[in-house]
Amino acid sequence: MSLESTPKDAAAVILLRHHTDQNDPEVFWVRRSEKLAFLGGFYAFPGGQLDPSDAATPVENCVDTQTASLISCAARELFEELGVLVARGGDALTKGQRASLLDDLEQERMSWPTLLKHYDLCLDSNDFTSVGRWVTPPFSARRFDTWFFLVNCPAKQEPHVIPGELERGAWITARRAYESWQRSEIIAVPPTLHALKTLATGLTGDLIERFLSVPHAHREPVRRIEFRPNYICFPVRTPTKPPATHTNCYLIYNSREILVVDPASPDEDEQQALAGCLDELLAEGRIMREIVLTHLHPDHVGGVNALRQHLEETHRARAPGVAAHELTAAALGDDIRVDRFITDGETIELEGEPRISLRALHTPGHARGHLCFYEARTRTLISGDNIVGFGSVLIDPPEGNMRDYLASLERMRALPNLSVIFGGHGPAIANPNARIQEYLAHRLEREANILSAVRDGMTTSKEIVARVYTDVSRKAHGMAERAVLAHLEKLIADGLVSRCSDGVYVAGRTSD
Ligand SMILES: [Zn+2]
Repeated sequence: MSLESTPKDAAAVILLRHHTDQNDPEVFWVRRSEKLAFLGGFYAFPGGQLDPSDAATPVENCVDTQTASLISCAARELFEELGVLVARGGDALTKGQRASLLDDLEQERMSWPTLLKHYDLCLDSNDFTSVGRWVTPPFSARRFDTWFFLVNCPAKQEPHVIPGELERGAWITARRAYESWQRSEIIAVPPTLHALKTLATGLTGDLIERFLSVPHAHREPVRRIEFRPNYICFPVRTPTKPPATHTNCYLIYNSREILVVDPASPDEDEQQALAGCLDELLAEGRIMREIVLTHLHPDHVGGVNALRQHLEETHRARAPGVAAHELTAAALGDDIRVDRFITDGETIELEGEPRISLRALHTPGHARGHLCFYEARTRTLISGDNIVGFGSVLIDPPEGNMRDYLASLERMRALPNLSVIFGGHGPAIANPNARIQEYLAHRLEREANILSAVRDGMTTSKEIVARVYTDVSRKAHGMAERAVLAHLEKLIADGLVSRCSDGVYVAGRTSD
């Protein structure tokens, strides 16, 4: 049985400006709201998930029912998110009429197909050029099989972001948009970047071919995900904590060197896939600098020995060293040899262009020897398991320590103007400050609830879990108990709770 979730059908619209320059076309891109749990803060195209009503929407010149329903989805999402109505007969409507139609739809006075019929509008497949289907990699709970459509914005209609999922939007030439990603100014998913890069070459005769020229435009999940230039996120399958099924390995590279963070998978096929990605980078003339570990957990270090062996065998190179915090090295013992210790504050600087200088931060809490890496130039943080893009962070004593963890979160919050966090699991986090704030607020709320449970007379961790963790399933109560113990340890250290000689917890300080 696969734990990976099944992708849901979705559609996205790459909207081209009316009469745009064929050599330097303009598209309408949007920034997703920072408040969104899924891809908050990312730059993207308007779109969303298939609605049951889409199957009931007729589309002219389209024989395939599935394609028709996704065209309906694309047209509906475009209307709902940007107010742009791409339907035959729509030119006769005034701006005010379109606004009232949108209101009918939003207030659910009429369904999408009913609304189109009522106003004598019809969707036509000729207005929606299919330019590929991309599937979200299996590192996220929310996965989509997204159909991308190229659509010309009708004359006399001007898109504007309707507040909700999107924060803002603007016309921009594809070239400029792509360049802003190259300058590390924005975060976007691979299909967005592929579309921008493809359009940047102009609306040539072979445009559609170029869109479809990569296997990922035909539903093959992208393995080498470059949310930010020079940082490859390479999720590998691992026996990790559900709901996550994958751990992110990172390959940080420039013109000359490569650093590998957390070669995580114990599975041979996954190890080979990672080695393949590394080989591509090496074949372009780079050398391997080092393997770096964020922390000791098996779902982060499962592929270290295999990667070392691969480098020795295939490249006859001197095996790259493994570097980690001293406490990580001590815990790994003979299983994984650590050649060099990394201490708090030291920098690892990659030779070559661009210069990448990663500052190590010793950030215990999830694990004693946990390291994060911060690059000041692009304000990028590799956060290991301290902050993750998917799932939750377990603080399990004695390796885990809640007091340390909160201090580590505070330290990350103090980093100046973070632009992205690359976590050990899940997609990149493009709303880093909101996410750190959310982590802190969540832990402090739990702590307050646990303290009040103790003050109300709950004396064991089991009782406290039953009272405080009403939002998690019974199955997860074992883990919740570990977290409660971590909070109790912190409350004891803070002098707010005591553990009596018989093992029960009471509020305040006791003399025994
Ligand atoms: Zn971990």
